[in-house]
Amino acid sequence: MYADIIIDITHEKLDKIFQYGIPSELEGMLKTGMEVIVPFGRGNKETRGYVVGFSERAGYDESKIKEIIRTAEDSIAIEAKLVALAAWLKEYYGGTMIQALKTVIPIKKQEKMREKRRIRLLLGEEEGKWQLDVFLHKNQKARARLLAALLDQPEQDYDLLTKKLHVTREVVRALEDQKIIALNSEKVLRNPIGYRNRKDQIPDYTPEQKHAVSSFREDYERGIRGTYLVYGITGSGKTEVYMEMIAGVLAQGRQAIVLIPEIALTYQTVMRFCGRFGDRVSILNSRMSQGERYDQMERVKAGEVDVMIGPRSALFTPFAHLGLIVIDEEHETSYKSEQTPRYHARETAVRRAQMEGASVVLGSATPSLESFYACKQGTFRMFELKNRAGSGELPQVYVEDMRKEMKSGNRSILSDRLKALIETRLGRGEQIMLFLNRRGYAGFVSCRACGYVVKCPHCDVALSAHRGGKMVCHYCGYEEAQVRACPSCGSQYIGGFKAGTQQVEELVIRQFPGARVLRMDMDTTRTKDGHEKILEAFAGEEADILIGTQMIVKGHDFPNVTLVGILAADLSLYANDYRAAERTFQLLTQAAGRAGRGKSKGEVVIQTYSPEHYSIEMAAAQDYEGFYESEMEYRMLMGYPPTEQLLAVLLTGPDEAVLETAAKYLREFVLRVDKNRILKVIGPASPYVAKVSDVYRRILYLKGTEYRMLIEVKNRMEQYIEINTGFRTLRIQFDFNPMNIF
Ligand code: ADP
Ligand code: ZN
Ligand code: ZN
Repeated sequence: MYADIIIDITHEKLDKIFQYGIPSELEGMLKTGMEVIVPFGRGNKETRGYVVGFSERAGYDESKIKEIIRTAEDSIAIEAKLVALAAWLKEYYGGTMIQALKTVIPIKKQEKMREKRRIRLLLGEEEGKWQLDVFLHKNQKARARLLAALLDQPEQDYDLLTKKLHVTREVVRALEDQKIIALNSEKVLRNPIGYRNRKDQIPDYTPEQKHAVSSFREDYERGIRGTYLVYGITGSGKTEVYMEMIAGVLAQGRQAIVLIPEIALTYQTVMRFCGRFGDRVSILNSRMSQGERYDQMERVKAGEVDVMIGPRSALFTPFAHLGLIVIDEEHETSYKSEQTPRYHARETAVRRAQMEGASVVLGSATPSLESFYACKQGTFRMFELKNRAGSGELPQVYVEDMRKEMKSGNRSILSDRLKALIETRLGRGEQIMLFLNRRGYAGFVSCRACGYVVKCPHCDVALSAHRGGKMVCHYCGYEEAQVRACPSCGSQYIGGFKAGTQQVEELVIRQFPGARVLRMDMDTTRTKDGHEKILEAFAGEEADILIGTQMIVKGHDFPNVTLVGILAADLSLYANDYRAAERTFQLLTQAAGRAGRGKSKGEVVIQTYSPEHYSIEMAAAQDYEGFYESEMEYRMLMGYPPTEQLLAVLLTGPDEAVLETAAKYLREFVLRVDKNRILKVIGPASPYVAKVSDVYRRILYLKGTEYRMLIEVKNRMEQYIEINTGFRTLRIQFDFNPMNIF
C-alpha cells in the first residue's frame, strides 16, 4: 500500500500528488485527510503534507519511493474532515484533488500578521529616576520624554506611545540597547467587526415562527439531523427564526454557519446577528484580504467564534463541532461556484452536515425548484411562514401588456399606467423604484408589436443573435439566418431588445422634470462602496426615483417606496437557459416585494410582452406554488433538473480544429461508455461566447435520471482525457446542473 500525498497546496508548482511508502508502525492508522511529515526534495527536508488517498501499486520505480516519517502531532481533526469533504467535492463535481483542497482549506497568508507591540520598563523606580536625571542632564529630550512616560505607567502600547511623544524608532532602540526598556509583541488576530455589545430584544414570535423553531428544536434535541426549508415571503420573519434556531444549537455547545448572498450581506444584517450573539460572531466577505480571511479561520480554530456569517466560501469554516448551517435566499445563483470544482453550496452543505452530524436550514420566498421538490419528496422538511411578521401588507400588482401600448400609439418604455402612478407618488412625496430586468439577456430576438420570440425548433429555448446575421441555439447548435420581419405578425419591429439603465434614466428625467433621480448599475457602482452609498442616499430620501438592474431588488428595506415599476419583465424569460422562467419569477417576486414595506400599501406595475406566460401571471398573483407546478411540467417534459440531471462538459482550447475533433471523440467515448443508452448526449455545440481572447469553446451536454451514472461517466472521461494526448492542449471542465449557460 502507498499513500498519495499532497505537499503544499499554496504552491502551484507543487500541484501534484506524490506517492510515499507507509512504514509498518503506521500501517492501518493512516486515514484520508491526515497531516503527515514526509521527506521532500533532494535534501529530504521534513515537510508537511496531507494524505489524500491510497494506492496499491507504485506509480514509478519502487526503490525511489520514500517513506512517511510520522503523523503530524498537531494535525487537527477538523482539517481531516475538510479534506474528506474535498475528496467528495472532487468526486461529485470533477476536477483535481488540489483544486478541491484549495476550495476547503484556507491558504496560509503570505503577508505578516499585524503585530501589537508593547514597551515595558525594565528599571525599578529609583533606578529609573536616576536614569531620567542623566538624560535630562545630557539634554537627551526624546529619551527623557519616553522614560518619564514609562515611569508613570511602566507598560504601554508601542504605537500609541511613540506617536503621542513623537519618539523615533532610533530612540526606542537606544533605550532597548541600554536595557532600560524591552519590547514585546503579541500576535493579534484581526476581528472584522467593530462590536457594540448590545442585546437586542427578541420579539414575540408569531405562531408560524414558533412552530418552525420548536419543531426544529424537538428534532435537534432528539438527535435527529436533517435539512429544513423555511419558506416565507420577505419580511415574514425568517431571519428571526434562524437566530432562534442558532441559539438552541449554541446552547448545546455547537457552532453555526450562516450563508448569505454577498449582495445581501449588509451592515444591518450582520449587526442583527451581533445584537443577538455579541462578539462570538464573525464575518467573511470578498472585500477582505487573504490575511484577514486567514485570521478569521485562526480565530475559529482557537474557539473564539460561534457564528460565522458569509457568502458561499464561509461554508468551509473549520468549526470543530458544527451544529447548523443556515442558507438564506437559498435559490440564489451565487451559491454555485463558477470555478472548478463547480460545487453548489446547498448540496455541499447537506453533505458536510451529514459528515459532521449537523443540520441544514434553507430559507427563501421563492425556493429553488430543487429544494421545493425535495420537500415534496420528503427529503427536506418544510416550515411555511405565510404572513409578514412586522409591518406592511402585500402590494397590489398590475400587469401591463406592452403590445397593446404599442397598438394604441405609445412607443415609450413606460406604459400609461406606470406614468400616471409615478405622477401621483411624486405629488405625495413617496418614492419609486424602476427595475430594468436585464438578467440573462443574451441577445434573444423578439417582436415589439406582438411579443413573438424566435425559438429553436428542437429545444424550446430562444435563439441568440450572433454577429454576422445568424441566430444560433446554444443547446444543440441549430442555426438560421436572422429574420427581418416578424414570422408571426409581419411587423418590422423585431430584433434584440436594447434599452439600458442610462436610456431609462434620460427618458425619466425628460418625462418628469424636477424629479430627483438616482441610477444604480455596473457603471455607477464601480467605486468601492458605490453600491452602499447609492442605497443609503435613497434610503435617506435624497432622491425620488431609483433606477437600476437586479442589484436594487435585494437587501435594503425602503419604507417610503410605494411604487415599483418593472420594465421589460420578459427580458430574462427568453434567455437561452432552462432556468429562465424560474429566474424571471424570482426576480419579479423580489422586485414586487420592495413595494409597501412601510405603513402605506404598495403598488407594482409589471410591463411585459408576454403577459400570458405563467412565470409572469404567477408572479403577479404572488403564487409560488402555481408557478412551481407549471415549471415542473416544463422541466419534466424537457428532461431538465430537478427531474433529470444535467452535466455540461466545457472544452476550451487555442486550436479550433483540434477542439472540434476532441469534442467529437469525447462524445463518441461517452456513447461507448453508456452502452445501454441510459444517457442523452447533446452536442458538441458552440456556446454563446464561442471564442474568448482566441480561446475556442465547445460544449457537450449529458442528461440522465441518475446523478450517480453521470458521475461514473465523468470519472471515465477524466481518465480518458488524461491518457489521451489529443487533449493535452485543451482544458475540460465539468459543470453539474449548471446555473448559467456558457
Ligand atoms: P425575513 O428574513 O423573512 O425577511 P425578518 O426576520 O428580517 O424577515 O423580519 C422582518 C422584520 O420583521 C424585521 O424588522 C424583524 O425584526 C421583524 N420581525 C420578525 N419577527 C417578528 C415578530 N414575531 N414580531 C414583530 N416583528 C418581527
Ligand atoms: Zn436547439
Ligand atoms: Zn410580431
